[in-house]
Amino acid sequence: MNFNSKVIHGGISEDEFTGAVNVPIYQTSTYHQKVLGGGPKWEYSRTGNPTRAALESLIADLEEGTAGFAFGSGMAGIHTVFATFEPGSHFIIGNDVYGGTFRLVNTVLKPAGYTFTEVDTADLAAVESAMQPNTRGVYLESPSNPLLHVSDIAAVAEVAHRYGAKLIVDNTFATPYNQNPLPLGADIVLHSATKYLNGHSDVVAGLVVVKTDEDAEKMGFFQNTIGGVLGPQDSFLVQRGIKTLGVRMRAHNENTHAVYEYLANNDKVAKIFYPGHPGTEDHEVAKKQMRGFGGMLSFELQPGLSAKTFVESTKLFALAESLGGIESLIEVPAVMTHGSIPREIRLQNGIADELIRISVGVEDIEDLLADLAQAFAKL
Ligand SMILES: *Cc1c(COP(=O)(O)O)cnc(C)c1O
Repeated sequence: MNFNSKVIHGGISEDEFTGAVNVPIYQTSTYHQKVLGGGPKWEYSRTGNPTRAALESLIADLEEGTAGFAFGSGMAGIHTVFATFEPGSHFIIGNDVYGGTFRLVNTVLKPAGYTFTEVDTADLAAVESAMQPNTRGVYLESPSNPLLHVSDIAAVAEVAHRYGAKLIVDNTFATPYNQNPLPLGADIVLHSATKYLNGHSDVVAGLVVVKTDEDAEKMGFFQNTIGGVLGPQDSFLVQRGIKTLGVRMRAHNENTHAVYEYLANNDKVAKIFYPGHPGTEDHEVAKKQMRGFGGMLSFELQPGLSAKTFVESTKLFALAESLGGIESLIEVPAVMTHGSIPREIRLQNGIADELIRISVGVEDIEDLLADLAQAFAKL
């Protein structure tokens, strides 16, 4: 099946009990076991729930893995993935991963006995030289946030595997419409389904997909044991959101490319960060592993122009954190999403005070460009 059919008919797409074309919301915590010790399929909803199972099988299909797991948030999924590794394990982690992932690493995982080396995962030599005898995993986001740097997933997987480590990829920004890390060589792929997968800015959820039966069994055990599972109502909403992922992502990709072209021809713009930006290293790698360049783009204004004035002037682009919904959003990472990173480190990582990040929605492109134009006119 091709992508737009798969999002609708993949995984478990109808109710096995009634034939309803949507898997219903099985709002139940427990199940009537007709025979003592009979081992029914469903016994308790932390362990398994039919609505959640439908979503889990769908994301496994879309990411071409063996099993999917749904969590109450992206962070709950990420924490559970790390928990499957033994304390004392060392990880190499991208130096521009999501702020909440940094906080998890620094305030929860390091005190629990895990160790980390932060590197630019787009730099293969840097990844290889950070390898230690106890390195068990490499964790990266591609494209990354907010600078949209692209790591060569197949090449990093090759290095990781050579050292007996697993490659874990946060595929939130790309989505399975634009990129599939598992066939490229990654071992575990995860999502903040809060963003594009659900796509309507009305649910917080996380999804994890693994490649091997061994990892599937392990993840299932840890998901059930730690218990950060997604409820049936939200599982239903995320599955409903995913049904339109293909048409939404096509619109996100197209609109963002049009915004890129508009900004590239605007003399008030100094720099653009976008995987579809020709002439950059990121673009060369992106072309190899992505089918589209996604809905995120960051840019810097010419020195002296105020990012504050700009982001306060847009009307369709709402000044807000988060991303990946159908509506366009705009923000200043230094003040908002990345405000918790010390300024010195932030600047070192290339995130300027005046950097503007936009999540381009699926509104009509003429309206989005007109909104940007009137905001530029205020500068
Ligand atoms: C939002 C986000 C997360 C965290 O997900 P939540 O659903 O907010 O817990 C992780 N990774 C990336 C890239 C994100 O954008």
